[in-house]
Amino acid sequence: MSERYPNLLKPLDLGFTRLENRVLMGSMHTGLEDVRGGFRKLSEFYRERASGGVGLIVTGGISPDMSGQLVPFSSQLSFPWQVYRHRKLTSAVHEAGSKICLQLLHAGRYAIHPLAVAPSAIRAPISPFRPRTMSTGKIRRTIDAYVRAATLARKAGYDGVEIMGSEGYLINQFICTHTNKRDDEWGGSFDNRIRFAIEIVERTRQAVGDDWIIMYRLSMLDLLKDGSSWQEVVQLARAIEQAGATLINTGIGWHEVRIPTIAAMVPRAAFTWVTAKLKQSVAVPLITSNRINTPEQAEQVLADGDADMVSMARPFLADPQFIEKAKNNQATHINTCIACNQGCLDRVFRKQRATCLVNPRACYETELTISRTKIPKKIIVIGLGPAGMAFASVAAQRGHSVTAYDMAGIGGQLNLALKIPGKQEFNETLRYYRHTLKKNGVVLRLGQTLSAREIRANECDAVIVATGVKPRTPDIDGIHHPKVLSYIDVISGKAEPGNRVAIIGAGGIGFDVATLLVEDEQGLDREQWLHRWGVDTSYVNRGGLLLQPEQTAARRKVYLLQRKPTKIGASLGKTTGWIHRTALKSAGVEMLNGVRYQKIDDRGLHIMKNGDTRVLDVDHVVLCAGQNPNRKLADELAGSGMLVHVIGGADKAVELDAERAIRQGVELAAKL
Ligand code: NAP
Ligand code: SF4
Repeated sequence: MSERYPNLLKPLDLGFTRLENRVLMGSMHTGLEDVRGGFRKLSEFYRERASGGVGLIVTGGISPDMSGQLVPFSSQLSFPWQVYRHRKLTSAVHEAGSKICLQLLHAGRYAIHPLAVAPSAIRAPISPFRPRTMSTGKIRRTIDAYVRAATLARKAGYDGVEIMGSEGYLINQFICTHTNKRDDEWGGSFDNRIRFAIEIVERTRQAVGDDWIIMYRLSMLDLLKDGSSWQEVVQLARAIEQAGATLINTGIGWHEVRIPTIAAMVPRAAFTWVTAKLKQSVAVPLITSNRINTPEQAEQVLADGDADMVSMARPFLADPQFIEKAKNNQATHINTCIACNQGCLDRVFRKQRATCLVNPRACYETELTISRTKIPKKIIVIGLGPAGMAFASVAAQRGHSVTAYDMAGIGGQLNLALKIPGKQEFNETLRYYRHTLKKNGVVLRLGQTLSAREIRANECDAVIVATGVKPRTPDIDGIHHPKVLSYIDVISGKAEPGNRVAIIGAGGIGFDVATLLVEDEQGLDREQWLHRWGVDTSYVNRGGLLLQPEQTAARRKVYLLQRKPTKIGASLGKTTGWIHRTALKSAGVEMLNGVRYQKIDDRGLHIMKNGDTRVLDVDHVVLCAGQNPNRKLADELAGSGMLVHVIGGADKAVELDAERAIRQGVELAAKL
């Protein structure tokens, strides 16, 4: 067993039960909770994570009653007949040697349906439905529903519940004046506003007995102007401890708040200082969370005494064996969550099943299986970008003999992505593939490639063409002017743009280039980043907000342009697009949609917008106008009689992203 993570791998004795280590797999909605047959798939999802050694798992949010459902027909636990399917989950986790709690989540005014209820009838900015004010009777019935659901959860074999009291859901809505305008015993004073939370915990404890986990997720930092003050957070935590909670988990920020809390640009462990601050005031074990994604980081947080446990959610989508690998000194083989949200949260928001950009098997454990091949093949892979790496690694793992070529080394366009401020996590993906390609026995021929003629002369059973994309050069008068630069030259550092830059194309790469051009070259440390986004680490003000966030001058004047009349950045991820837009806006980037490009000359870029001509007096114009597939090799091999598969950008460049490329590589490798 590894001695590198003594704090992380230390058991936690809760008196009546023991957790094997200090790692909680935090609650994640997978989308399997709400579909027919989903619980069978979900049980395999949890079984893999439990056998990977995580100490305690929390399910996705399950509502205690109908009004609390997030969307119509989402999962609820209110009736004895619903217990049976939950037993599938608890048995799978227990068979694999771990423990599991059910998360009770009442959406309150975040519900996306007309039955939504809340302490006061104030519509949330993230729901189209105005909630109904809860009557005293409804409040009492809702508390009963929590208690009933917890009792049923115990019957279903859960080891406990997590009561979701943060992120702006119903309980949190009672606690803050932002959403609670009542003047009865449930509103007004802070004692009244926390009554709902405390009664839920107290009554649940009475109902389930002393030997069962009650975890309370407490909003330690609302990030709202009229959120809780630090004194109120401490008062609530003490009251929750008194009411019978076994563990208190950390909640950061309401969902409606426009400060990033878990996206890739958030520095690692950026919010553990809040949990550390509370540790001085309560005795109950505290769990910290948000942007902890490696065993080293988790160990550090615990070694620093910031918390008693760490919660990681998405890292277990990315790698179910996270703990097992850490235990066995194989941390370099961990497939690290890069906090992109593309495969998980963005999908859930589109009402799709969650998965993971770096691990397409996540939530598809029963469908995307990887087994040893009975007929080993000799396979050549040309191109080691995301699609080629994913294919080669899994094909070799299955027992095929794989030789992979790439003139430039591994990673393809990921090598560009990781140079963008806030996207350094892609380094972890490259580290993962460097180790797994080797471990799985892929023969790497880096700095080399094969021509179609050489491939034909080679006796192999299959050729995988993963030759990626070529940047598109738009047909604009003056496109070969010396002012014009390709995004590849700019991101790789080959070209240094001047102080005034126009970017043609506002897709993912246009945004990346704009970020690179305006952000501080040195990057921001944790404290600077928090201040930049308006978080007050001295917690003087309510909600932990700075009254006047720091403003810094941008390094350059940048124009970000597109021809479409739609909102700039509309194609970016649902959960991260607003962050990119906000960051660029505050750096003074001028975003122009509906433009026509007329010409590029010594004066700059000539555009037409709304019928008016305008000259953008820029030093450079950077082309980020999308990609075309690099199909040269694929075309040359066509008709050769060989088994040729074209994957990744070489197959389809439109909407190419690493998620689709990796999925395509893994799916092909799983069946070849
Ligand atoms: P993209 O997202 O398809 O954007 C291409 C941009 O170029 C669009 O704004 C398009 O807007 C413009 N364009 C297309 N043809 C043009 C032409 N002939 N002349 C002038 N402008 C033209 O492609 P990308 O930015 O190269 O990104 C590639 C993929 O990488 C993306 O699809 C994305 O999935 C992925 N990626 C994602 C992120 C992320 O943050 N999630 C970051 C980087 C890359 P108009 O046609 O309206 O002008
Ligand atoms: Fe992490 Fe991205 Fe995977 Fe989500 S999709 S788990 S954020 S790597």
